[in-house]
Amino acid sequence: MANPFNLPMMGRSLRNLLSRPATRRYPSEVRPHFAGTRGTLEFDLDTCVFCGLCARRCPTVALTCSREDRFFAIEQLRCIACGVCIDLCNKDSLRMSEDAPHVHLHTGAAPGDPRPGHQEWHQQPPDGSPPVPGDAAGGTATAAV
Ligand code: SF4
Ligand code: SF4
Repeated sequence: MANPFNLPMMGRSLRNLLSRPATRRYPSEVRPHFAGTRGTLEFDLDTCVFCGLCARRCPTVALTCSREDRFFAIEQLRCIACGVCIDLCNKDSLRMSEDAPHVHLHTGAAPGDPRPGHQEWHQQPPDGSPPVPGDAAGGTATAAV
C-alpha cells in the first residue's frame, strides 16, 4: 500500500510558501532603471512651436504633431529612445528623463482610453472644453493647457 505521507512535492511546496515571490508585484513594485538607461521621452508644451520636424524624422513613427490643431502626441511604447527627435529639436522641447513615470503606466489620453503608453498635449483644447487633468500617480496621460 502506498504511503500517504510520501508526497514528493511537499518539500517544494513548503519552500515556495516560505520564500519571496519569484516575480515583482508590478505595477505597484517597479524595478529601478538600470545604470546607463536612456530614460523616457518627455515633452515640454511651453517651448514647442509645432514645426513637426521631430515627428517626420522619428524612425518608429512614435510622434504625432499637428501645427493646425496645436497638438502633439507620443506613443511611448513605440519609442526606442534613439534620441533623433531630441537632436533635431532646436527649441529643446524634448528630452530623456530617468525620473519619468514608467511608460507602461501611461493609461491613455482620456478616461477610458485603452492605449497604453499614449500621451498627448493640446495647446488649446479644439472644442474649447476645459483641459483634462493628468494622472500624477501613473504619469500624465494628457497634458492640456
Ligand atoms: S518638439 Fe521640437 S521639433 Fe518637435 S514639433 Fe516641437 S519644436 Fe518642432
Ligand atoms: S527618441 Fe527616437 S524613437 Fe523615440 S520618439 Fe524620438 S525619434 Fe522617435
